Amino acid sequence: MAQLIDGKAVAARVRAEVKAEVDRLKAERGITPGLAVVRVGEDPASQVYVGGKKKAAAEVGFNSWEHHRDASITQDELLALVRQLNDDPAVHGILVQLPLPKHIDADAIISAVKPEKDADGFHPMNAGNLLLGRPATRACTPYGIMRLLEEIGCDPAGKRAVVVGRSNIVGKPMALMLLQKNATVTIAHSKSDVRREVEGADIVVVAVGVKELVKGEWIKPGAVVIDVGMNRLPDGKLVGDVEFAKAAERASYITPVPGGVGPMTIAMLIRNTLEAAERGVK
Ligand code: NAP
Repeated sequence: MAQLIDGKAVAARVRAEVKAEVDRLKAERGITPGLAVVRVGEDPASQVYVGGKKKAAAEVGFNSWEHHRDASITQDELLALVRQLNDDPAVHGILVQLPLPKHIDADAIISAVKPEKDADGFHPMNAGNLLLGRPATRACTPYGIMRLLEEIGCDPAGKRAVVVGRSNIVGKPMALMLLQKNATVTIAHSKSDVRREVEGADIVVVAVGVKELVKGEWIKPGAVVIDVGMNRLPDGKLVGDVEFAKAAERASYITPVPGGVGPMTIAMLIRNTLEAAERGVK
């Protein structure tokens, strides 16, 4: 039977580490890290996510500001807001909550954020630096997953890792981070034989958004299973992309949904903002 990977507990530890560093930064250099969150429109999920991010920022002693704009905001107005935050020396991290309304070009907005203040790690400069193996602000969800692997003592070196899903925010950066840690990495997607790829994997990361897509019987005995998926059932329950109960019978470690990967994403956003403040970005 697999051991559960308690993302909630690890995320609390990350926040405690950040808080200690914030206290030191305030005392020694007079810097209070600042996180600016931009939210557009009334998407209920975004409202919840932004609430969680503000709460975590307050807990670790950051300044934080929410800039909420009506869904009718123009692209130019939103770009102007981003530039204003880029130029504000009290702001060390900027996060533009996605999705944005359809008339806004999300890529253009993400690219307008100063790469040094890109708390989400989505800017093309940060994505490119990750690809090149250079220092970069890392996309929060895969960065959090790397921390979870570390916590359970799973060294990816020489292991076969399969990442199911190739989004720019999870799948692709996940594969690159695992590669950087010397795993042999396969990226599977909607045109792949997912079962065949998963069956040979020592580390399985699934970020698709399809309820229980990966069946428990596909999991290699002893594999580490990381489930990024968040699928809301009609009764309100949240389930992942992996058939949890059956996978847990075969895996050595597995993340639950909720309480696995989710809490880590916010914790790493906080960590990224702290690191930007420590680097002295203005
Ligand atoms: P996304 O942009 O929607 O991409 C989904 C990926 O899954 C695509 O690469 C797609 O392949 C692949 N896919 C779709 N159907 C498939 C199938 N039947 N077999 C194999 N691959 C398939 O997803 P995302 O933004 O990465 O999010 C994925 C999931 O993670 C969602 O449930 C999301 O809510 C969750 N998520 C959770 C967190 C967290 O903090 N816990 C953070 C981010 C996302 P193609 O490229 O071929 O279309």
